[in-house]
Amino acid sequence: MSSESLKAHTVHAAWSQFDAVDAGPTGLNAFLSVDREGSLAAAKVISTNGDLAGVPVAIKDNLATLTLPTTCGSRILEGYVSPYEATAVRRLREAGAIVIGKTNMDEFAMGSSTENSAYGPTLNPVDRTRVPGGSSGGSAAAVASGVVQLALGSETGGSVRQPAAFCGIVGVKPTYGRVSRFGLVAYASSLDHVGVFARNVFDASLGLEIIAGHDPYDATCAAQPVPTLRQSAVVADAAQPLAGLVVGRPVEYFTDALDPRIRAHCDVALERLRALGAVVRDVSLPHTSLAVPVYYVLAPAEASSNLARYDGVRYGQRVHADGLREMYERTRSGGFGPEVTRRILLGTYVLSAGYYDAYYRRAQAVRTLITQDFERVFADGVHVLFTPTAPTPAFRIGEVSDPYDMYLSDIYTVTANLAGIPAMSQPIGDVDGLPVGGQFMAAKFDEATMFKAAAALELALRSEGGA
Ligand code: GLN
Repeated sequence: MSSESLKAHTVHAAWSQFDAVDAGPTGLNAFLSVDREGSLAAAKVISTNGDLAGVPVAIKDNLATLTLPTTCGSRILEGYVSPYEATAVRRLREAGAIVIGKTNMDEFAMGSSTENSAYGPTLNPVDRTRVPGGSSGGSAAAVASGVVQLALGSETGGSVRQPAAFCGIVGVKPTYGRVSRFGLVAYASSLDHVGVFARNVFDASLGLEIIAGHDPYDATCAAQPVPTLRQSAVVADAAQPLAGLVVGRPVEYFTDALDPRIRAHCDVALERLRALGAVVRDVSLPHTSLAVPVYYVLAPAEASSNLARYDGVRYGQRVHADGLREMYERTRSGGFGPEVTRRILLGTYVLSAGYYDAYYRRAQAVRTLITQDFERVFADGVHVLFTPTAPTPAFRIGEVSDPYDMYLSDIYTVTANLAGIPAMSQPIGDVDGLPVGGQFMAAKFDEATMFKAAAALELALRSEGGA
C-alpha cells in the first residue's frame, strides 16, 4: 500500500506551484535554496518502485544534504555544504523521493514563527499577513501551499506541530529515538527530533515509517523494530472504529490561556472521538505549568554547548581579526542573530558555577516529574491524550515582539519533547479562516495508536465538511 495522491504530485507539478506561490519578492519565502535542474533530471530517471518513487520533498535547512547548503537559517553557516547526508534524508531518497529544496526556519530552530531567520520571514500561505509558525515554518508553508506534499522538519519544543497547526496540515513528532538524528544540526540534543509534515494522516504515517528505525550513526536511536505505521492510519470499516480506545483529556491543557474558539473546536473533536467509540476521560498532568520554564532552562543550556562549535575555524563564516580571541568574538557576534545570542547567554548563565544547582539541576529534576506525569496516565489505561496544539491561531507578522510571549506559544507542545513521547497535530477546524490544530500524544513507541485515533478523527471531520 502506498499513497496514490502523493505519487500523483510530480516534480514538474512542484515547480509550477513553486513559481506560482513561492518565487519572487511577493512569494512565501518558504525555501532558502532549491535544486530545480537536479530534481527535474532525477525525475526523468526514476528507477525505483519505492513508496516515494518520483515524489518531490522539501527538507528543513538544519538537515544535512550533499548538494544543497545547510545554513540553519543563520548567517554563520551561509553557503555551508555538508560533506555527509542526514539519515532521514537518505532514507527518503532511497524510497525514491526527490529533494527539491531546503526550507526556511528560525535561526538554529530557535523560535515559533520563522521570523528569526537571517533570510527573512516565511509567510503563512493561508493568510500572507501572518506567520506560518516555527521553527519549521518553511516546510509547513511548502506543504500547505501545495509545492510538495511531504516535508521534513525538526522539533525541539513543538517546531513541527505548531507550524502544522498554523498552516492547516498534519505534523508529527515521533518518540525520541524513533528517527535518527544523524545529520540533524544539534540545537538541544536531549530534546531534538526529526519530524514529518504531510497533508493527511496516512501520508504522514508513511513518511515517518520510511525515515524511522535503528541507525548505527546515532547512539540515541532506538533498536526497536518499526511497525507498519501506514497500516495503523487506515480506518477500519466499522461503525465504531475506535471502540475500546481510551482518550485522556488533560485538564491542565484547557485553561484560561486557551482561545475559547479553539477550545470549542477541541470539544467538537472530543465529541467525534466518542461517537467513533472512544471513551473520553479527564486526566491530570499536574506539572504541566512548569514545562515552559523548564524547557527554557534546558534548551538554552544544551544550545550554549552545542553552538560553541561555530567559532569561525571549523564551519561557515569567519570575520577576520588580529588575535584568535577577537576573531572568535567578531565571528560569533556578527554571525548569530539576537534570539540565538540570547539563548547562548541564558544557557551559559544557567550552567555556570554557582547557578548550575539552582537552575539546570532543578530543571532536570522537574523534567523527570513531567515525564512521570505522562507515564502515570498511560499506565492507568489511557491510550492517547487529546489537547489543542497551540493556544492561539497564527498571529500577524511582527505582532509578538516580547520573547517571553513568543515562548508561551509552546505551552502545549514542549511537554512531549521533555518526556520524549510521540505527538502530532492535525487540522480540526478554523477560526475566522485561520486553521486550528488538535494534538494527540501517546506512550513511547506507540505511534501506531496515535495514527489510528488521528486517522479516524480526520475521516469523521472530513465527512462532515469540518476540517
Ligand atoms: N519554539 C521553541 C524554541 O524556540 C521550539 C523550537 C523547536 O522546536 N525547534 O525553542
